[in-house]
Amino acid sequence: MIIDTHCHIYNSEIENAEEIIEKAAENDISLILNGTDPLSNKEILRLTDRYENVYAALGYFHSFADEITDENLSLLDEQLNNDKVIAVGEIGLDYYHRKDNKDEQKELFEKMLNLAEKHDLPVIVHSRKSMQDTLDILKRHDVAGSMHCYQGSAEMAREFIKLGFYIGIGGPVTHKNNKKTRKMVKEIDISHMLVETDSPYLTPEEKRGEKNTPLNLRYIIRKIAEELDMAEDDVIKITGENARELFGI
Ligand SMILES: [Zn+2]
Repeated sequence: MIIDTHCHIYNSEIENAEEIIEKAAENDISLILNGTDPLSNKEILRLTDRYENVYAALGYFHSFADEITDENLSLLDEQLNNDKVIAVGEIGLDYYHRKDNKDEQKELFEKMLNLAEKHDLPVIVHSRKSMQDTLDILKRHDVAGSMHCYQGSAEMAREFIKLGFYIGIGGPVTHKNNKKTRKMVKEIDISHMLVETDSPYLTPEEKRGEKNTPLNLRYIIRKIAEELDMAEDDVIKITGENARELFGI
């Protein structure tokens, strides 16, 4: 079984979510759907109820930092008790997208990390142009998790690994001009890597121009195998064990 550790296959993101989930199941792929707001979290719980190969990471994303209410927070607190919820995510900081509300983003991120600690769940973290702040905040919390679609240096990756984090490798590793990520992949050990697609975003080079789906995980696995000079089956086996270890699946 292959695990796509980060994707957004639900109806507010993509119309034919059910069809994609069923196709993934036929191909022996399990999905961790990542929520970003009250609506997507609710949609995900409907899908985890219905499909065996679907797990949930629920959370509130940085882009909702100005909107999340106390009521939203207690709803999430309640939802995290569901057995199919295996992480808090997608959460984090993004100063590329917005620089003017860093404090609000940090505050929401802290609240999400507190909830993860309370429920003893790992986290799935988004960090763009905010690596140092992300690391500083994570250091203050007792959580493990995944650095989703990690685009930083190997040196910085090792800092996250020290905290018990795994490094999420997605479509950008296949992108022609992205030598930086391929170099990083060679420098960190595969025992710290997870694979993910971020579908319907971040489509691999081979399918550029199309919406991404979890079936494209194969291109990411192939690229990692190529870079590390390993068999694809071993990449699947080791990254799968990593995911099961982290998320307790
Ligand atoms: Zn995402």
